[in-house]
Amino acid sequence: MDIIDKLTEVFKEFPGIGERQAKRFVYFLMSRSPAYNENVCGLIADLKKEVAQCKECFRFFIKNEKAHSQSSVSAICDICGNVNTDSSLLMVVEKDSDLESVKKSRIYGGKYFILGGLVPIVEKSTKSRVRIEELKEKIKREEKNDLKEIILAFSLSPQGDHTDSYVREQIKDTAEKLNIKVSSLGKGLSTGTELEYSDNDTLKNALKNRQ
Ligand SMILES: [Zn+2]
Repeated sequence: MDIIDKLTEVFKEFPGIGERQAKRFVYFLMSRSPAYNENVCGLIADLKKEVAQCKECFRFFIKNEKAHSQSSVSAICDICGNVNTDSSLLMVVEKDSDLESVKKSRIYGGKYFILGGLVPIVEKSTKSRVRIEELKEKIKREEKNDLKEIILAFSLSPQGDHTDSYVREQIKDTAEKLNIKVSSLGKGLSTGTELEYSDNDTLKNALKNRQ
């Protein structure tokens, strides 16, 4: 495998990128100056240094200056750590970009949890793919913050539906015992809608009509 093939393989692992696009990225980088490529490498290398993952919701966030200089990692994000966040609501989403879309729409003021993926319909080792155990722990912890409702917000697709059923089944006992309602946002979206690309009105309706 030469360097072109190796780099193509790397880009092919990126979400939504196929062989042809991956190759185009490689040829693009070949046409750029060494300084440009070094800058790209530097940014990639710094990404993990400047970003932390919230231990409550698992979202990635930029560490603030203070946490940075203290070298102690601030592992709670500005949503989980904010006293104004409505702790009676917990929205479970697939990925970071879904959370960002809902956050930007300003229609929801509750807490979040990032599941880390959807559950494939044919899947044997589900538990290793999504944060279901972490979610159960989170629900138990949130009980003392007066958690009233868990909103499952996955894309309205066969895989999204499957994930919805899977998570419901998994958290059923815990939620029942703690008297927490479980609802789904996906039902308010139109078929095939990705949460990430939903506009404000769609999200607002989906939130209002959750069931
Ligand atoms: Zn958080």
